Amino acid sequence: MRRKLVVGNWKMNGGRVANAELLAGLVEAGPFDADVAVCAPFPYLGEVALSLQGQRLGWGAQDCSKHESGAFTGEVSASMLAEFGCRYVIVGHSERRALHAESDQLVADKAKAALAHKLTPIVCVGETLAEREAGQTDAVVKRQLSAVIHTLAHCISQVVVAYEPVWAIGTGRTASPEQAQAVHALLRAQLHAATQKSDEMSLLYGGSVKADNAASLFAQADIDGGLIGGASLKAADFAAICKAAA
Ligand code: PEP
Repeated sequence: MRRKLVVGNWKMNGGRVANAELLAGLVEAGPFDADVAVCAPFPYLGEVALSLQGQRLGWGAQDCSKHESGAFTGEVSASMLAEFGCRYVIVGHSERRALHAESDQLVADKAKAALAHKLTPIVCVGETLAEREAGQTDAVVKRQLSAVIHTLAHCISQVVVAYEPVWAIGTGRTASPEQAQAVHALLRAQLHAATQKSDEMSLLYGGSVKADNAASLFAQADIDGGLIGGASLKAADFAAICKAAA
């Protein structure tokens, strides 16, 4: 049976004092019967790592460069993250796809760079509302995942995939457990065609997950946990979601 994984995506939120309070609250609420991690903004990663030393809480970044090093002002490489003991890195979040014009291939290249440094990429896929309404959900998520499968080949089994319908992110509008499960089943079938280890892979759901809807989402056969945005910023809310994953 796959162990559940719950990852908090702080996005561009937080501050030194607020982060310390949040992490202390999480440590106090744990340990959880699920793997739990937080993905913080770059400047805070060192402090987050120190705060979580010896704790059963992992941490990660929200993006990385596809490049190893060089003249890429503002970018952070996977090797830099690895140097600090980073475990996870989110790639292809819909906000980066939309606001930074990240292509499917760039997302796949970032996942490849992460794996090269033994980080676990959390690869986000998901359709917009217009795409869902046009009946394109399956085609869109398959296209996004296909670029990653093609680029990583047999290493695809080492990634975590997060299905995050864009229309559900930060909107308070969640996919129903049935809607989410249908897409997760589709993604697992696509992964199965690429790797015999698809049954061992974690597929997370993200999009307005809250304490009161988490359990029904996580109860679905192919939903192995969540990628949590807004509700990961308050220790009590995030802890309740982590407990729902047990
Ligand atoms: C996210 O940003 O990955 C996310 C799922 O956000 P929210 O939980 O706020 O919808």
